[in-house]
Amino acid sequence: MAVDDRPAAAPDADAAPSTGNGVRIGRLFGVPVYATPAWFVIAALVTISYAPVVEARVPGIGPWKYLVSASFALLFYASVLVHELAHTLAALRGGLPVRRISLHLLGGVSEIEQPSRGPRQEAWIAGLGPLTSLGLAAVAYFVARPLAQDSVGRMLADALALSNLFVGAFNLMPGLPLDGGRVLAAVVWKQTGHRETGTVAAAKTGRVVAVLAVFVPAAVSIARGYAPDVVDLVWGGLIGSFIWAGAGQALKAAALQQRIPGLSARALTRRAIPVAAVTPLAEALRQAELAGASHLVVVDGEGRPIGLVHQAAALATPVDRRPWVPVGDVSRRLEPDGVVSANLTGEDLVAAIIRSPASEYLVVEPNGDVFGVLVTADVERAVATAP
Ligand SMILES: [Zn+2]
Repeated sequence: MAVDDRPAAAPDADAAPSTGNGVRIGRLFGVPVYATPAWFVIAALVTISYAPVVEARVPGIGPWKYLVSASFALLFYASVLVHELAHTLAALRGGLPVRRISLHLLGGVSEIEQPSRGPRQEAWIAGLGPLTSLGLAAVAYFVARPLAQDSVGRMLADALALSNLFVGAFNLMPGLPLDGGRVLAAVVWKQTGHRETGTVAAAKTGRVVAVLAVFVPAAVSIARGYAPDVVDLVWGGLIGSFIWAGAGQALKAAALQQRIPGLSARALTRRAIPVAAVTPLAEALRQAELAGASHLVVVDGEGRPIGLVHQAAALATPVDRRPWVPVGDVSRRLEPDGVVSANLTGEDLVAAIIRSPASEYLVVEPNGDVFGVLVTADVERAVATAP
């Protein structure tokens, strides 16, 4: 029962390990590993539900059956962790930082902080996970073969071979958010030259896979002449809705991504006027209003920009104080990476914002002239709202 996906980096940092992100259980290759509370519940359920199977295979085992089934649960999740490590190591080797590995209800997630640089890298990072699971299945199979049928070792090795075979094959199904969906998206990306075209195609097949996950287990039971098992239906429903939701998120992300090329710093920039640091705030605001500008840029004696007036701080200054407060007091110094070119567009604009996050940037013409102020929230709004 392991499916996984690699969503865009979560907004939380690992400074807050225990708030809804599970418990930190260790660190591997410099990447912290977390397990969600649901994971512990599932591990306990696997232990309890697998114990009778152990007793049937190894008669007379008694209460030790729980130790054996707990070992299976641990070994199974260790295999899921190895699957995730394959994704993580492929990403790290490709120069993409990994924020964390999380083990959750249905498997694991490697949170890779940057998108792949090309379709080949994407296919490699995504494909290596399920290939590793299939490799583990093969190892377990060959370990099992020489062992006696009714031995505990044989049973554990058989169970691991089967469960890893399932994890590998299931994750190779060609629909997002499964690994196979990422490989399909990468292939379409390679063919068309557009990342989003690949994402949309693989998200649509993901919805087909979601529907199949709900109905195929029941259909198989009926075809074999049994009534569908309730447990199968619940698992099918759980996995199907997980995939359906993941495919929907991928479609939404692709829609956002498709708007990025249309972004332009010039079009989104708000008008700003230059003022000297000693100008009283009241006078500066009056000049801005006359010019129809919403922002103030502090300039030195030669007209070079040296700071941005903090709009919230300026407006929070009581009206009767404004004639006595110089704008320099409500401005912050301009850092070199707080300046963007008016000609920045699309991915380059987004990259500039991600490189040095701030709420506002000074926008300059290529010749250095002040053009205005870019408010980050305006860019976010432009991406999030329909064109
Ligand atoms: Zn995977």
